[in-house]
Amino acid sequence: MNRIQRRHFGKALLAAPVIPVAAEQQARQRASGLPPLTINDAKVITTSGGGRYRWVFLKLITSEPGLYGIGSANNNYQTEAVITALEKHLIPWLIGKDPSRIEDLWNSANYRTYWRYGPVNNNVLSAMDMALWDIKGKRAGMPVYELLGGKVRDAVPCYDHRGGRDKEEAVAGVQKSMAEGWRYIRVQYGEGGYGGGGFYPAGKGERPEGGYSGLAFDEDMYVSTIPAVFEYVRSKVGFEPKLCHDVHSHLSGINAVELARRLNPVQLFFLEDVLAPEQIDWYRNIRKVCATPQAVGEVFSHPYETLPLVTERLIDFTRCRVAAIGGVTAAKKLANLCEPFGVKTAFQEGGENDPVNQIAAYHVDISSPAFGIQEENHFPPVVHEMIPGCGQIRRGYLYGSDKPGLGLDIDEKLAAKYPLRTDVPRGGAYRTDRALDGSVVRP
Ligand code: MG
Repeated sequence: MNRIQRRHFGKALLAAPVIPVAAEQQARQRASGLPPLTINDAKVITTSGGGRYRWVFLKLITSEPGLYGIGSANNNYQTEAVITALEKHLIPWLIGKDPSRIEDLWNSANYRTYWRYGPVNNNVLSAMDMALWDIKGKRAGMPVYELLGGKVRDAVPCYDHRGGRDKEEAVAGVQKSMAEGWRYIRVQYGEGGYGGGGFYPAGKGERPEGGYSGLAFDEDMYVSTIPAVFEYVRSKVGFEPKLCHDVHSHLSGINAVELARRLNPVQLFFLEDVLAPEQIDWYRNIRKVCATPQAVGEVFSHPYETLPLVTERLIDFTRCRVAAIGGVTAAKKLANLCEPFGVKTAFQEGGENDPVNQIAAYHVDISSPAFGIQEENHFPPVVHEMIPGCGQIRRGYLYGSDKPGLGLDIDEKLAAKYPLRTDVPRGGAYRTDRALDGSVVRP
């Protein structure tokens, strides 16, 4: 290399970094151009949604005029406890903090209560977390899914809910869903809600004198009934629709194993919560006898309940509710945990759930390779008016609004027109199923 070559080479070396340095400076300027942000105010918004919902939303208002975020603290059964926890404990702690530090706030809020991962604490965390992601997305001018890595699918496939009091009604329900464009359909059976197909009618069966007289669940009856129902449905609709069934934890150990084994020939898309959280070690036995896919975790609130089931590949879908585990941050971490183990997500909805929780799940669903399926939830017209940007389900797919942040809002005046109802049966308690002898059956 002569002197001239060396000079050109030296110039080239000097010239080469100019573009990245300029880009870095621009990026730094853009970042530093954002003024500091603080949470100035917060309010808890409650509404019946014009029906029997018991919805609790958190609105975090920042120091930037017009910039706020909303989140869901949905808990149909401990609603007043969640409201109090938000108003008396979280909000006073949160005011004045920097909303851009989502991960730090999530952790410090989680440890703020010392005892952690309980359902009410998680509802509170979830509301805060969703609102923080809403704020971050709005500030970035992007939907939250863009901040999570962008779309990996065009829309979010959901499963429909059908039931039948008899086999013909179950078949008709599946056929109706298929005609409406649903590819995934959950089928429940019989009278009595979850556990249907396994209930003695009220007053029937051999019972203790003077004891419990309502619907009574019997595990053996259920294990005999349900496989025959699905064999009949399959004989009429074939194997194209992807069918699911929710046991709602009504079975104990070996009966759960036997039901999963008997359902193997009908090739379910998944069998949901065949065991209660207290009995999850039995999933190892299920794996040994059949390939019926297992969807688990609707009532889980602690991440370590899910952990061994995923890492030992004992289940196929995690079923947690986003508002019950800590919001977008927790749901994204759960999806990331599942991905390398080949387990998929099937985030839970449920008839009492709300559009903010649904859309929080949507942002994780649409940006995660570990996505499996999303439970559908749909709302009456007044809710779509109350919560503009509410997700839309068309022919089996959930669509978000694509607006920045979570992409929806709450009309507070309209929400206030429909306050929480006070005439809630038994204070809003979940139904307790019982056996013939009056003992409690897990829900
Ligand atoms: Mg369920």
